[in-house]
Amino acid sequence: MPARKTSTRSSRTLGQKPSQRAAPVALSPKTKTEKLRIAGVVLERLKAEYPDAHCELDHRNAFELLCATILSAQCTDVRVNLVTPQLFRAYPDAQALSEAVTEDVEEIVRSTGFYRAKAKNLIGMASLLVNKYAGQVPRSIAELIPLPGVGRKTANVILGNAFGINEGIVVDTHVQRLVRRMGLTREPDPVAIEKALMPLFPREDWALLSHLLIWHGRRTCFARKPACAQCVVADVCPSAGIAE
Ligand code: SF4
Repeated sequence: MPARKTSTRSSRTLGQKPSQRAAPVALSPKTKTEKLRIAGVVLERLKAEYPDAHCELDHRNAFELLCATILSAQCTDVRVNLVTPQLFRAYPDAQALSEAVTEDVEEIVRSTGFYRAKAKNLIGMASLLVNKYAGQVPRSIAELIPLPGVGRKTANVILGNAFGINEGIVVDTHVQRLVRRMGLTREPDPVAIEKALMPLFPREDWALLSHLLIWHGRRTCFARKPACAQCVVADVCPSAGIAE
């Protein structure tokens, strides 16, 4: 197992040309104790760095967040936020959306990509809410996952952000990339990553943790060329200076 790097090595590696750097690797600390130490530092530093970290999908209630999260698949939050005001004006609740004409919804959500499937999922989801849950969004993973367009990640987003229930950890593409770089897990699969992260972070911080990692991924730990020299956790990150 490679030794954890020091900031000195990070600086030197950062000064090298890309061709001279070591290949990008997901280093893993040796022990759970070491992972817990890194996790604790990461949580504390990112909390300080991003005190306003929050879900960047605009919403006023659980129903709107559910719609927005379904639309966010393969799409940026910024794009979703451009579309949802019109969607929520036209269909303010599950009852209204369940009665929508598919083509009308398709037209509104077209720019988010995969618009036919998303429109179908939105209407199907709303219909199930009306038929099974009196138009309300249910509050458990087991009830959320059967809704069209909803997987474990979306269910965790809804529970954590709309209801303040820390049932799991949202593992999106940013979270996957960052925790692997930080050496907290080598798992490739989002569900396995979530399982690996749960024992490393306090449950009450699970929803916030996802936001912190996503914010850090968008502002510093970019998929290409992470800004390790500016990173607040570089001294504990095994990939500092060598992640690409
Ligand atoms: S920016 Fe660099 S140092 Fe910071 S978490 Fe990402 S890979 Fe690690």
